[in-house]
Amino acid sequence: EAKSSHGSSIRFFDPTLAEIAKHRQRLENDLRRAIRAGQFALFLQPIVDLTQNALVGAEALLRWQHPEHGLVPPDEFIPLAEETGLINDIGLWVLEEAGKQLAVWQQAGLPLYLSVNVSGRQIPDGLPPSLLVDQAARLGFSPASLALEITEGVLLSDFGSAQSWLDAVRSSGFPVYLDDFGTGYSSLSYLKRFAVDRLKVDKSFVRDIGTNLGDRALVAAVTAMARSFHLDVVAEGVEDADHVRLLRHMGCRYAQGYYFSRPVPMESFHEFSARIPELLRATLDS
Ligand code: C2E
Ligand code: MG
Ligand code: MG
Ligand code: MG
Repeated sequence: EAKSSHGSSIRFFDPTLAEIAKHRQRLENDLRRAIRAGQFALFLQPIVDLTQNALVGAEALLRWQHPEHGLVPPDEFIPLAEETGLINDIGLWVLEEAGKQLAVWQQAGLPLYLSVNVSGRQIPDGLPPSLLVDQAARLGFSPASLALEITEGVLLSDFGSAQSWLDAVRSSGFPVYLDDFGTGYSSLSYLKRFAVDRLKVDKSFVRDIGTNLGDRALVAAVTAMARSFHLDVVAEGVEDADHVRLLRHMGCRYAQGYYFSRPVPMESFHEFSARIPELLRATLDS
């Protein structure tokens, strides 16, 4: 209860808003400590090549193991991390973990790549291209094996600096993927203006390609358009064998989704992806 400037102690307060603010503040404090407390983990989800019928890489997805709330999904804490600026430190942690894993694979002769999600808030100063280059040299992995996933909005917000960041990153050899393609302001002129390496078609368009002819036409059109821009397409949210068959028929080269594997802890990745050849065989027309 606070005194107003008139000396009265009357104040109207919405208890639910107060609760929300308190919860948020607590979560923010917890998030601030999470890196040092070792509460973050990178999960990996396989990405497969439908033309080679093989596992080719994985997307790294961040998980926060909260001491009281359990596993907090990224959609709940990434926005908070972005608002508070904590995303920069978190992003560097993600990069370090992904880089170490790539170095291990490359020393073992495994030609797998990783892609990490980069928030718009990290571009350009939270993730300088020179830092990426140094990190690849320090940890010992090839830039070509680490892709950066950005969303369309990133490049529209601060045109000039985002463009220079993109050019520097790509000319250093790091591939860039456009994530959640189709959900934002995607347009043909956008793809002409910003050179990227791959499009990831959002899972909301893939989900119903088996039943919804509009969605099927949309994914087919994106795939055809991408081909004419010499871009590869990754379909997200591939959940069953029918999805795989339809995507292959459309000429979509890469797929990722629960059909192949959910995101799993790094340590379990090889165990889970051992099933992929068999899952792929089940989608081949007999
Ligand atoms: P995203 O980058 O589009 O990642 C794909 C999301 O789809 C993941 O959710 C994944 O678990 C989910 N997914 C994969 N396959 C399927 C499927 O077959 N069906 C369905 N329904 N969902 C599927 P997740 O892990 O909860 O991540 C949500 C979002 O959080 C990510 O979307 C990404 O935008 C963000 N995120 C995750 N990790 C990071 C990170 O390290 N940094 C940043 N900046 N953002 C991250
Ligand atoms: Mg992504
Ligand atoms: Mg996505
Ligand atoms: Mg996303």
